[in-house]
Formats: sequence, C-alpha cells, structure tokens
Amino acid sequence: MSRVYNFSAGPAVLPEEVLQEAADEMMDYQGCGMSVMEMSHRSKVYDTIIKEAEADLRELMNIPDNYKVLFLQGGASQQFAAIPMNLMKNKKAAYIVTGQWAKKAYQEAKMYGEAVEVASSADKTFSYIPDCSDLDIPEDADYVYICENNTIYGTKYQTLPNTKGHLLVADVSSCFLSEPVDVTKYGVIYGGVQKNIGPAGVVIVIIREDLITDDVLPGTPTMLKYKTQADNDSLYNTPPCYGIYICGKVFKWLKKMGGLEVMKQRNEEKAKILYDFLDQSKMFKGTVEPKDRSLMNVPFVTGDADLDAKFVKEATEAGFVNLKGHRSVGGMRASIYNAMPKEGVEKLVAFMKKFEEENA
Ligand SMILES: *Cc1c(COP(=O)(O)O)cnc(C)c1O
Repeated sequence: MSRVYNFSAGPAVLPEEVLQEAADEMMDYQGCGMSVMEMSHRSKVYDTIIKEAEADLRELMNIPDNYKVLFLQGGASQQFAAIPMNLMKNKKAAYIVTGQWAKKAYQEAKMYGEAVEVASSADKTFSYIPDCSDLDIPEDADYVYICENNTIYGTKYQTLPNTKGHLLVADVSSCFLSEPVDVTKYGVIYGGVQKNIGPAGVVIVIIREDLITDDVLPGTPTMLKYKTQADNDSLYNTPPCYGIYICGKVFKWLKKMGGLEVMKQRNEEKAKILYDFLDQSKMFKGTVEPKDRSLMNVPFVTGDADLDAKFVKEATEAGFVNLKGHRSVGGMRASIYNAMPKEGVEKLVAFMKKFEEENA
C-alpha cells in the first residue's frame, strides 16, 4: 500500500485510522454479518451509529441543548436554497460576499426574497475579509449570511461580523471542527462534510430550535423544511447512512486526538510552517492578506503560469497531489485539513525549497 500526501480541497484526506477501521468492518460490522452499507437505516444497529455520531459531535463542539443537529443530503449547495426558504420570514437577508461560495448562496437567495449584499471583497479578487464591525444591515433582515472560511481564496473571518442583533448563518464547510466555536453566536452553522470531516454526500446543519417552524416560504419542498428533518431526527427518508457512519468515526478520532483545542493548536502549527516558508521565499508567494489567512486552505503562486504548472507536475510525481489551484484562481493551493499530518506539510515545504533552489 502506498499513500500520497493529498492536498485536495475536497473531497479530501481522511485519517488513516478511520479508513483502516472502516476497511476492517466492511464485510461484517461488529458481528451483524453485513456492512453498514447494507443495513436498514431503521435497524437498532444503525440507530446506535447515528445517535453516537450526534452525541460525539455535540460533545466536540459543545452544542447547547436548544440546538438541533441534522444529518442531511444535497451538499452545502442545497442549503443555499434551504436557508432562505426556512428563514426569510420578512423576505430579506444580508449577505457578505467573500468568495464564490458566498456569492452562490447570495445569488440563490435572490430567488426567494431580497438578498442584500452588505459587504464584499470582490474588488481585490476576494483576497481579504472586509471590515464587518459596522455594516449597514437592514433593520428587517431575517439573518446575516457568511461563508466563514473561503475554500477557494484561502481567507477566514478572524472575528465574526457584528450582526447588530440579527441572526448569524454560517457556511463552515471548509473549517468545520478545525478549532473550537461558540455555537451560541450562530442561528445556523452548516457545512458539507467532504472538506474536513468525511465522505461527500452528507451535510451537517446545526440550527437553533426556535428557528425550526412550519412558517416557511410557500412551495418549500417537504425535504427542505428543517422541521421535517428535525421532527424525524434526520430519518424522514433514508439518510446517507454510510457517510454518517464515517463521520461518526472521525468524531471519535477527534475526541481521541484531544478535541478541538488540540486540533486548533495542530492546525496553527501546520499552517505556520507553510506560511513562514511563503513569507521568506523569493519564488512562492501567498495570495491573501496575512491577517485574514485560513488555517485550512493555503493558496500560493510563483507569478509565472508555466512555472506553476512545472511545480504542480513535479510535486505530483513526488507524491504531493492535488496542489493545483482552483480553476478560477490558478496557481497552487494546499488544503491542510485536520487529517493532514504535520509531517506532510514539512515534507511539502522541503520539496518547495528544493524546487526553488533548482529553478532559481
Ligand atoms: C465545497 C464548498 C461548498 C459546496 O459544497 P457541496 O457539498 O459540493 O455543495 C460550499 N461552501 C463551501 C465553503 C465549500 O468549501
């Protein structure tokens, strides 16, 4: 067996221990004679799997009792519609546009009501997080929407926006479980799990209970109503059973690692290794405002597209894969999620040093 260092932005690297455990349980899950893929989502065995997953997530994130945890399908992108459909009581919401995912959410919301762009960093190709301390938020806005970590551009909010008393809704797809969060600051936190948690096909929505009502926009599909999902403990229909099972294993792995405080420390250490190198390199440069740097997604360029391509090619041959930047940005991007070991980042930096020397 030979594993590469996978710097993909998503679907992304998973902890080897989790993959090994899943492999061991593939043919016979804990003596029940079948794989988790083959069992009823209404069985006792599966009930334990999904309940434990939720309990472990609650413990990791310290989720208060007045928040529901939903395991859904449709990816983060489906939530771009579900959020306005469920929350736009006044048919108005404020959006902060800090990248492509925020923009997509903003555009989708416009289909359901008045989505107001209250801040944007489009003027400098989303290379920073705008000052959100005193935004002009409409009084009757139902919520303020952010994408907390911008996967493509590599920025993250270091402080949450001042919502002036409005509900905060956050897409945390690419920073989910990377550090502790204060859930009480949000109305809704959600994310696709294929970045920092598990396999594609699961989206986790953490939502304050009082926001789950029958008062949704006319025409909201049954499946997209949070109330349908909450009333049925994410089992209204068949959930993404196997994906949830893997997420549950990752939650246990995170607990074993020491929880989110420890993950934050590890992630800061890893990111520092890469950013410190970029800051002194004469060839490679980070592309975002240092103060807004993400711990998870690190874009960088040489300034020469041919040299970028040569780097990506040689890196791939050396076992550092998926370093090509997003098609909209170019250059390179190293996604260094929870499951990327420190050693992977150290070896990547050593490789970059060598490449710089050889191509100076
Ligand atoms: C990847 C990503 C999405 C889209 O996720 P899907 O599950 O593919 O819909 C949305 N938001 C952010 C921040 C992402 O990184």
